[in-house]
Amino acid sequence: MNKIRILSDQLVNQIAAGEVVERPASVAKELVENSIDAGAPQIQIDVELGGRRLLRVTDNGEGMTRDDAMLAFERHATSKLGSVDDLETIATLGFRGEALASIASVARVELVTKREGENIATKVIFEGGRLIDIKDAAHPKGTTIAVKDLFFNVPARRKFLRSEATENYHLTNLVTHYALANPEIAFTLTNNGRETLRVAPAKDLRERAYQLLGSQLIESLLPVDGGLKHVAWARGFVSAPRERRTTRDGQYFFINGRFVRDKIIGRALSESYRSVLPHGVYPVALLFLDIPLQEVDVNVHPQKTEVRFRRADAVRDAVAQAVRNALAGAGYVKEFESNSVFDVGVQEERLVVINEESIPPAPTGGSLQTEQPTQSRIEFGFEVKEDLQKIGAAENAIPNFEAQADVKTSHAETQSDIFQTSPIQLQPERTFEIKPKEEFKPRIEPTPSYFPPLNSATALIKEVPLESLSTNIKPLGQLRESYIVAVDDEGLLIIDQHVAHERILFDKFSRIEATRKAESQRLLIPETFDLTPAQAVAFETVVNELESYGFGLMRLSGRTVAINAVPADLPAGEARNMLAEVLDTVDAEKRGNAKATWRDEIAASLACRAAIKVNMILTQEKMRWLIDVLLLTSSPTTCPHGRPIVLRLTVADIEKGFHRT
Ligand code: ADP
Ligand code: MG
Repeated sequence: MNKIRILSDQLVNQIAAGEVVERPASVAKELVENSIDAGAPQIQIDVELGGRRLLRVTDNGEGMTRDDAMLAFERHATSKLGSVDDLETIATLGFRGEALASIASVARVELVTKREGENIATKVIFEGGRLIDIKDAAHPKGTTIAVKDLFFNVPARRKFLRSEATENYHLTNLVTHYALANPEIAFTLTNNGRETLRVAPAKDLRERAYQLLGSQLIESLLPVDGGLKHVAWARGFVSAPRERRTTRDGQYFFINGRFVRDKIIGRALSESYRSVLPHGVYPVALLFLDIPLQEVDVNVHPQKTEVRFRRADAVRDAVAQAVRNALAGAGYVKEFESNSVFDVGVQEERLVVINEESIPPAPTGGSLQTEQPTQSRIEFGFEVKEDLQKIGAAENAIPNFEAQADVKTSHAETQSDIFQTSPIQLQPERTFEIKPKEEFKPRIEPTPSYFPPLNSATALIKEVPLESLSTNIKPLGQLRESYIVAVDDEGLLIIDQHVAHERILFDKFSRIEATRKAESQRLLIPETFDLTPAQAVAFETVVNELESYGFGLMRLSGRTVAINAVPADLPAGEARNMLAEVLDTVDAEKRGNAKATWRDEIAASLACRAAIKVNMILTQEKMRWLIDVLLLTSSPTTCPHGRPIVLRLTVADIEKGFHRT
């Protein structure tokens, strides 16, 4: 008997649904994209029970005829793609024609739609991929699709749905994304009948960002408008370094209007901030990339949230350059400094600055124009055609970009020291030099042969096993105002002052019981905090926990929160960043297993924010105190994030190093 069988359509659709329909937010994504493709000026999304029970999208777009309404549920049925050639230059959000078929195979779907000029609307009902009914209905021009009981017929998938709060967080984030990408469209989102987001049509991204993210964030956004023609042009906003996030949730990337999650753009962004933000801290960004359609393949992932660039390095460089120019324009980095792969392999390029005299003063808070100040108009003095050849050349010159990145770290750290210790110097001398080509020095210099190989030092300095830590530790002083250098009976100790204090505070905060309120300090002047729609959802979940740690919080009108009091150990200036951090980790998947509960999450965040920073001078007494209290904690050698706190160079190894053994 034959073993191979052709799968039934129903099964094929369910398999496809596995890729397209990951969670309620992915259903919402497909439906909202369809509404946008249909030219709708207004889109409403209604959610019940985190999208499990109901997810309904209503638009006033072009609608469908009765025949189309039925065809729309067929696999590979699309009105957006005619031929293979179209695939190269696809400009609509959808085109694969599988979303509705996939969704209908794993839920109960009701579609009601009417085109302009038709008398009567059509209602189509599908259940688990089977057509149940088609009938007349009443509906204004446009389409409503209600998806009910998601995964009702695939219990295995239903099990994987997260808590209602997590799913709502994703849904709200998604709608925020699309609302940012389409300022001219009005969006409404309701959650169990309560409105969580409503934005009227806005005239541009700035106004839309104001509607969604609030005025505080807007004030610290710097306009971006730059890139490399024919490769990638980036428009939008990035945040000043004082806005800090510990997740990438505040980063919204769009390629040709399509929301993407892209590592290359994220990396370009981090690269641009390397000298002004520490590792593990992320800026907020709303970046819209215009990339020639034939340069980017959007058809690599069924959800179309991942893309493939024809020339990824060039895109990364273009974005990094645009963002650095934005930072330079506001005085956060000295001048445009290419961090790109071109530095080493290709030295012929020159920066040509147009119109040096007309550089305006750095924008102060509140000034936000998409028109870029002139200083960003730095152009590469070569033709795009050459540019392409150079990309090839550069790739050959440095086959391994990761290795190069490592070499550059020390350079970046030196810069960050400068910025952290002297914040007043943030105003740059606004001079742009045209460097003659001789001055472009390769960053990688040959290692002189008389240095021992680098790894010999790292092998000597080791993490300290808990049992070998004695109470007989004497602090000697500080290294770079960040590390305490001390001695004990066994050798030399290096203690990271920030993580040491973090461990102390974490232990302290973890002991605070949920029932008893922690010490708190009232603020003379309450601070306000604008929640994003997704944060507003998260806020309701954690407000009680936050208060038990000493926060005094009051929800004002709209999505603004007043912070009246903060935990006693927390510097008031850190309150807003800390709130943002906690609210952005509402997504359970992002929380490591070690931090299983909200309370641990808040304790860790609080500890990190309240802890002594690096680059801070400590008195002898303070060092002594830090070491003494550290030794009393539950785990003096590792911080709450699992990193080492203490390193040791043993006497034995020192003697070995001096060839005394
Ligand atoms: P795709 O968007 O990839 O074409 P879908 O399965 O998402 O595939 O949708 C199939 C077709 O149904 C679309 O090509 C479009 O013609 C039609 N359609 C879906 N949603 C809407 C809507 N909200 N308004 C008008 N037409 C729609
Ligand atoms: Mg679609």
